[in-house]
Amino acid sequence: MNPEKINLLDFDEAGLKALFVGWGEKSFRAVQLIRWMHQRGEDNFQAMTDLSNAFRLRLSNECEIKPPPISEESVSVDGTRKWLLGVGGGSYIETVFIPEPGRGTLCISSQVGCALNCTFCSTATQGFNRNLSTAEIIGQLWLARRRLKEVSTEEDPLVITNIVMMGMGEPLLNLEAVTKALSLMRADEGYALPRRRVTVSTSGVAPAIYELAKNSDVSLALSLHAPTNELRSTLVPINKKYPIEILLEACREYIGEHKSRHVTMEYVMLRGINDSPVHARQLVRVLGNISCKVNLIPFNPFPGAVYERSTPESIQAFHHILAKAKLFTTTRKTRGDDIDAACGQLVGKVLDRTKRHERFLERTSQSLKVGNQGN
Ligand code: SAH
Repeated sequence: MNPEKINLLDFDEAGLKALFVGWGEKSFRAVQLIRWMHQRGEDNFQAMTDLSNAFRLRLSNECEIKPPPISEESVSVDGTRKWLLGVGGGSYIETVFIPEPGRGTLCISSQVGCALNCTFCSTATQGFNRNLSTAEIIGQLWLARRRLKEVSTEEDPLVITNIVMMGMGEPLLNLEAVTKALSLMRADEGYALPRRRVTVSTSGVAPAIYELAKNSDVSLALSLHAPTNELRSTLVPINKKYPIEILLEACREYIGEHKSRHVTMEYVMLRGINDSPVHARQLVRVLGNISCKVNLIPFNPFPGAVYERSTPESIQAFHHILAKAKLFTTTRKTRGDDIDAACGQLVGKVLDRTKRHERFLERTSQSLKVGNQGN
């Protein structure tokens, strides 16, 4: 690898235009390159036959198309696939593909670890290392599509129809790189995904929701998880900075007067914590005048977790109360949990710069000791 080479996966259309115009090329070269790289999945400049020889030579000498390397692939009994990708310095991130009849969802990571410390999420226990670059974010889609082509069969074509930014990390704390990747996902010359099929999930970084609205029209998922600030602050600590009413106002703005964008409220079902009929009725009141859907997510356990999944009966009862109040509600199916690929189970391998992982290990080994003494 030549460390001086420019990775073209790092650029959106505007960035490529600027690069090529700086070389004295026509700006439409940018669209040609995006078509080759993202629509056709090509990484060999010599194969780009509608470019001049001289331009191809310069690209070969000075540029590369380089996603993070796949270090491991796991396949669940339900067909869910998880890739562990190396991002240098001994750190790894995870990307997950979830096939369903007639569709396929790719779950993409935005950071190496996460700084937010939500108490029910295993990524949080890993601490935080750094933001991913645009190349590392769009590279997950680039790679997954190429790999899925290899393993597709005529009877079982594996196609990515939906993207969710729900892997490791908080996408709205890496807004610049994420926005560029989103524009490639949406671009006709790129992956040409409709706005409703690309979803950014946020723990609730209110100012970044307004920023996102300026540059993107993708769907937004808000990790609400509780109907009151008191409870939400114990689950999603960033709630102390951006409480529910501030977030819902940001969501209203995001949806827009003409309902041009979609918002979903995510609600993880934690047994005995946020899953009672009282919570459901509070949630109905809180979401009273906002146009959104609700997605209930049964909690996925991980080693050292302090919560349990709500019972199927309480999830159903909760669902029923929301649906009766005319809130469009779905309950997420748990997928890929045999390979730790379900929501909140993605850990990769993070060389933690926050010491949180160390503290978590200390805490869990202490509680194991206490538990053992009790036996
Ligand atoms: N940081 C972003 C995106 C990552 S998580 C966010 O917070 O939205 C994607 C979704 O999975 C979020 O709604 C998150 O709250 C949820 N989640 C995290 N841990 C979970 C777990 N253990 N079980 C079920 N859902 C979980």
